[in-house]
Amino acid sequence: MPNYDYECQKCHHRYEVFQSMNDAKLTDCPVAGCDGQVKRLLGTGGGIIFKGAGFYQTDYRSSSYQAGAKAEGAASAPAPAAAPAPAKSSD
Ligand SMILES: [Zn+2]
Repeated sequence: MPNYDYECQKCHHRYEVFQSMNDAKLTDCPVAGCDGQVKRLLGTGGGIIFKGAGFYQTDYRSSSYQAGAKAEGAASAPAPAAAPAPAKSSD
């Protein structure tokens, strides 16, 4: 299930939504009292998330890449720490 980052163009509230690729994009800000429009960010598995973790991965590779190369797959997709929903344990 892909998750998407949305950001309100008005109050800049940012949140993550898990939805199918077939679901319509969200447009309304969920913040009470804000009637702004949200924009979907292309962050899943790419830009936004990697931008924050980039230096970490670079350092990780240089120091223990050989020993932990196999663990990189798990490390490259960090679970959002502030996710409101409980983590799934399937698969
Ligand atoms: Zn808003």
